[in-house]
Amino acid sequence: MGGCPTGKVPGSHRGRRKRGLPTDLQNEIVQEIETLLGHQAIADLDLEAVEMAARRQALRLAARALEQRLNTDLGDHVGPELPCACGGSAKYHGRHGKTFESVLGPLHLQRAYYHCEQCESGFCPRDRALGLESFSLTPGVLRMTASTAALVSFEESSGLLHELAGVEVSAKQVERAAEALGAEIAVDERQHVEKMGEVAPPRAPTLYLGMDGTGVPMRAQEVKGRAGKQADGSAKTREAKLVTVWTAESRDKEGQPVRDPGSVTYSAAIESAATLDTSPDLSDFAARVQREANRRGFTEAQRQAVLGDGSAWIWNTASELFPQATQILDRFHAKEHLSQVGKVLYGDSPEGKPWIQARYDELDQGRLQSLVAALHGHAGQYQEARECIHYIWKNRRRMRYPKFHQQGLCTSTGVVEAGCKVVIGTRLKRAGMHWSVKGANAIIALRCSKLSGRFEDFWERRSDHNKAAA
Ligand SMILES: [Zn+2]
Repeated sequence: MGGCPTGKVPGSHRGRRKRGLPTDLQNEIVQEIETLLGHQAIADLDLEAVEMAARRQALRLAARALEQRLNTDLGDHVGPELPCACGGSAKYHGRHGKTFESVLGPLHLQRAYYHCEQCESGFCPRDRALGLESFSLTPGVLRMTASTAALVSFEESSGLLHELAGVEVSAKQVERAAEALGAEIAVDERQHVEKMGEVAPPRAPTLYLGMDGTGVPMRAQEVKGRAGKQADGSAKTREAKLVTVWTAESRDKEGQPVRDPGSVTYSAAIESAATLDTSPDLSDFAARVQREANRRGFTEAQRQAVLGDGSAWIWNTASELFPQATQILDRFHAKEHLSQVGKVLYGDSPEGKPWIQARYDELDQGRLQSLVAALHGHAGQYQEARECIHYIWKNRRRMRYPKFHQQGLCTSTGVVEAGCKVVIGTRLKRAGMHWSVKGANAIIALRCSKLSGRFEDFWERRSDHNKAAA
């Protein structure tokens, strides 16, 4: 049989006084595993069952050890009274127990509790010191929760946390924790605009900045009385606006610039891009664009290009903030527009495809006059054709693609379009999802932070801040 390395009978040292914690813990874990394995031949093991059980046991032992260590330390009792945030004085009310969900499983902690009669609320100094003030979740679980909730729905997050980490966090807890953390990130994003030096590749000669908008499905009360695109003039969505910055120094097989992997950062929110003409302040969205541009050193690049579709707010923001930047109508968007017009003009008939392709070619070759002439033939009959002519005329200087290509600029990346899908669509526009502005903005902030590689920095600042405040 497999020998027992500690030479003890399983369970014999329960209740014994703890000496060196690590050795004891290690011995106990070895013991537990021996118990799990029993006498069966290794070849007959259900390894999955054993490994899962072993992890559960090991974590449970670790949780007991940690609990004991924390609960025997009474250092958080710092006298009969403590000043309360309300200005009053909070009195010591003994030690209060509470169960927290930790990465080791449930932790039952006894903490010194102070109660203030003036504002009728209480607090535990230790919870503040250890960062335990978030929905009965320890910092480790809170961080895991943020990671899953940034990527998948609250329900799925709860399921993943259970399956992968053996941690129990209900969908409602995930929602509350993720939205609270997202709101913190949104505040943090406004305050921290220092340059991200590490985004690859360093000192790229050309930086690209894209803007786009996409509708987020809203709860009915959030869009009450707002004008929208529904048949009755009401709205079901609010527009989230996104800014994304990237570099494109890599080249594809044809030598065309392509987006550098890992160079993309995002910032987005449901907010206004408009201000009164008389206001000296930037709109909320323009201020966001400015912050992202600062973080990426956009205006310090030798060359700056702004990409977007035809929306007026994009070009107003670009002209206001970066008058020196080259404005490019994202070719991806322009083609999408032409293909929509082609579908209206020809429906499913076989002439449709070659017509659309011919317009694509004119667009790529910069033959805008010929493109407009082709649309003119349909302008009498179709409003879509008239609108498209207007769109091309308005954006003609942003559609000088041959010139842009000569300069080695990237004109059709789909990055901006993809940005909206990646940041907003895949997480916030799934079947059955309806958001409040507050909730959507929190999750968008969390997601942008994760996808832009800024979550680690945020988390570090948060831990430092919590320690300093305790
Ligand atoms: Zn108080």
